Amino acid sequence: MKALTDPISSIKGIGEETAALMQELKIETVQDLLEYLPYRYEDYRLKDLETVEHEERVTVEGKVHSLPVVNYFGKKKSRLTVKVLIGRYLISVTFFNQPYLKSKLQINETVTVTGKWDRNRQTINGTECHVGAYQSENEYEPVYSVKAPLTVKRMRRYIGNAFNDYGHLIEENLPEQFLSLYKLPDRAPALRSMHFPVSAQDVKRARRRFVYEEFLFFQLKMQALRKIQREQSKGMSQKYQLNKLNELISSLPFSLTSAQKMVVNEILTDMKSPYRMNRLLQGDVGSGKTVVAAIALFASFSAGYQGALMVPTEILAEQHAASLKELLEPAGLKTALLTSSIKGKKRREILSDLKEGRLDLLIGTHALIQDDVNFNQLGLVITDEQHRFGVEQRRVLREKGENPDVLFMTATPIPRTLAISVFGEMDVSTINELPAGRKTIETYWAKHQMLERILSFMEKELQKGRQAYVICPLIEESEKLDLENVLDVHSMLTHHFAGRYRVGLMHGRLPADEKDEVMKQFSANESQILVSTTVVEVGVNVPNATVMVIYDAERFGLAQLHQLRGRVGRGSEQSYCILLADPKTENGKERMKIMTETNDGFVVSEKDLELRGPGDFFGRKQSGMPEFKVADMVHDYRALEVARDDAAKLIASESFWKDEEYRPLRNYLERTGVFSGEKLD
Ligand code: ADP
Ligand code: MG
Repeated sequence: MKALTDPISSIKGIGEETAALMQELKIETVQDLLEYLPYRYEDYRLKDLETVEHEERVTVEGKVHSLPVVNYFGKKKSRLTVKVLIGRYLISVTFFNQPYLKSKLQINETVTVTGKWDRNRQTINGTECHVGAYQSENEYEPVYSVKAPLTVKRMRRYIGNAFNDYGHLIEENLPEQFLSLYKLPDRAPALRSMHFPVSAQDVKRARRRFVYEEFLFFQLKMQALRKIQREQSKGMSQKYQLNKLNELISSLPFSLTSAQKMVVNEILTDMKSPYRMNRLLQGDVGSGKTVVAAIALFASFSAGYQGALMVPTEILAEQHAASLKELLEPAGLKTALLTSSIKGKKRREILSDLKEGRLDLLIGTHALIQDDVNFNQLGLVITDEQHRFGVEQRRVLREKGENPDVLFMTATPIPRTLAISVFGEMDVSTINELPAGRKTIETYWAKHQMLERILSFMEKELQKGRQAYVICPLIEESEKLDLENVLDVHSMLTHHFAGRYRVGLMHGRLPADEKDEVMKQFSANESQILVSTTVVEVGVNVPNATVMVIYDAERFGLAQLHQLRGRVGRGSEQSYCILLADPKTENGKERMKIMTETNDGFVVSEKDLELRGPGDFFGRKQSGMPEFKVADMVHDYRALEVARDDAAKLIASESFWKDEEYRPLRNYLERTGVFSGEKLD
């Protein structure tokens, strides 16, 4: 009896050697081979060069116009060049390492050539050459990713053989209702179209199906895991005191925005529930996440628990500690700051107070997750700028308590796409409005040679009593990168504004107490200009600062520029951001343009994702980025959304867990280990 799980060597033509090569591509069973989809298609339809884009692949027919010339490099490498007349075009065609073509290409001979069109050089970089007129059996051929000595041609043959012998065994795995609802082809014919395409439309139809299939399976897995985890986690039910909470909220110097109220409610509901909260709070810079965190921490305190707030930098830790202390200590809560510069007796005191329960809230950096930091009754863990912390660090902090509720905050709004894919297993709360009265930060893009004008603009703002940041990318001169030196810029500005304004200097290499001092001076308006590296990127809050100048802005990512810009516009005055940049690439220019066009962090992060692609969005460190074979998270976003909703409905329905129709989906969950309690972060 044949089965799709048969080893690959059951297929005609595949011996031991080939099977070993296949294994390197993770193809072990017949099913693996049938599901090994092409990554692109060769389009053998004849094209008119006039309509072909630069770098596009083409097939053309023409006449050899001059005898080919072959150049050799080294022993094995060669390049053959031949002039070919195509209609009224006379172009060059080159072939690498195919010197034997020379004898076949006679003047006036008709040839059909396939390759990449280089419009600038009027050359086709040929890959295939057929002597004779155009005649194509298949206009459209699949191209597989293979490693030598496997070839695409052999791959096509093996897959053909596999279809002949096993094609009839391919089973449908999607419920009929979705196939008919979305007009998707059945699995067997769709696979056939992917491998033996008749036309571009044919492939497109089949691809739609596999995009949906991939997304649906992925979403089912994420959501099933979340459901199981929720049901199994013995979180704590925090019985906070609503009256005290309301008192705190009404003591605030402002009233909460409706978005803030909404997310506070979402968080409180989670905290009260017996499940462990696992929630992401996202909101643009300045949207007021800190006060939301404060309210949640206070709720936990009123229920008799301790809280922890972890942030990525010391500066931010100090600022949060100061503002939370001011806000929460009058309400009876004891706070402390713990960073790596707090040592000796002071540190020991904090640790013992924490352990004995004399402290209610600990705020700090990575210092919080050291081994000797022990809580008495940890109820709520919050991390700010969560993408800065690795999965491991978040886990360690969480394990300082017994299933504490966890809230991640981020000011880098997660593009919708990623929010529902990468963070599919978390609940997401979004603050989607800024407090009333905020003015849009006017953003300008200037060339470095306009520095004079920028200095006089700064001067005008300083005369009004405002302050300014000037950000430089690096601390030290590096000729190679040709970046502005933060020290140079500092001395230039000190000189320029001498006798009128004081210029502070901040960078990562300053000792902690000096950083502290510099920051305090700037906060107190004892210095009016702060020259800094990106250490001020996150969280820093000096409302009197209205000007942000960023040197070499093209060197920063969009999300980072948006963060930096968010340091101004925190008070009631009009603020400005000036990007000094001479970008050399189109991508760089595009980024500057986007910054001048929008102040909306969500738009910025969507664009950032488009320009950089999902893999780079969080930097390489961020693992857990799903990889899809066919689907593309950005371009197929609509399908992802649809699949997410369908998965949610399925998971919530009773029939999904018992009806025959859904068995293939359940089997998939089984195979991927969902029921064996695989752990999510
Ligand atoms: P972020 O979300 O970037 O962390 P913050 O929490 O630092 O923003 O808040 C930015 C500023 O807005 C702070 O000075 C804070 O006091 C203020 N703020 C927060 N919520 C409100 C509100 N509802 N109305 C007015 N100001 C607010
Ligand atoms: Mg913040």
